[in-house]
Amino acid sequence: MSGLLAGKTALVMGVRNKWSIAWAIANAYVQHGAQLVLTYQGEREERAVRGLGEDLGASLVLPCDVSDSSQVQGLFERIGEEYGTLDAYVHAVAFARKEDLSGMFADTPRDHYLLAQEISVFSFVECVRYAAPLMKNGGSAMTLTYLGAERAIPNYNVMGVAKAALEASMRYLSADLGKADIRVNAISAGPIKTLSAKGISDFDEMLRIFVSRAPIPRIVEQDEVAGVAVFLASDLSKCVSGEVIHADNGYHIVGL
Ligand code: NAD
Repeated sequence: MSGLLAGKTALVMGVRNKWSIAWAIANAYVQHGAQLVLTYQGEREERAVRGLGEDLGASLVLPCDVSDSSQVQGLFERIGEEYGTLDAYVHAVAFARKEDLSGMFADTPRDHYLLAQEISVFSFVECVRYAAPLMKNGGSAMTLTYLGAERAIPNYNVMGVAKAALEASMRYLSADLGKADIRVNAISAGPIKTLSAKGISDFDEMLRIFVSRAPIPRIVEQDEVAGVAVFLASDLSKCVSGEVIHADNGYHIVGL
């Protein structure tokens, strides 16, 4: 299977290092023939992400801290100037303070709760708002979510609530944009050891329980999630919108 994304331009947001789910998605997109645009969060990440972009053959690597609306707007304006159109947008961005990813959810301070919502949820809404006018031939936007949106998973806490809002936002965006032939979906990935995941207390225990209970009893790999992202960006998923696709070895169906 190759060339599923030939002729398409894709923006992948959320590459930080080679373990990032976004890196695996970017890599798969290039393998399938897409023209790739990457972003980095700030100066601290710039060098590493530019290097990864070079390795991948990304045609453009641009700054975008999603907490700054002017950077978000500037990013999509630049893509419009360079290419005129955009076919796929991947949002693999989330943030919560480490101290809020352990203990009691009820203890989450107001400003920490709002920060998680701003970076992990509103950013998707705002980016899709700017991406949509560039998707002149229709398109596909997707975000990354986790089972903690549906169930109270120990220590996931404020991020679980953010993911629930993210999934609801995805459905409303899907309802808004379908008439423009733009589909909006979410991939609910199983737990994967990335830099962000390391911030979650007892993450190794989460992985152990996952492998012991998942119908397919092994860890989900980044490139397996990337396969779903290729499907969602490709014309194979033209009738799929408003969906949360679980890329989690079936873990979400298990009772105990
Ligand atoms: P990661 O740390 O590699 O990626 C997180 C990305 O978010 C980084 O690139 C970081 O720079 C970016 N980011 C954070 N704040 C930002 C800001 N203000 N502006 C711009 N970018 C910002 O970790 P990952 O696990 O690959 O996470 C990618 C997505 O996948 C996240 O939405 C995460 O919640 C989701 N996810 C992860 C898992 C997992 O177990 N790793 C499971 C399901 C869903």
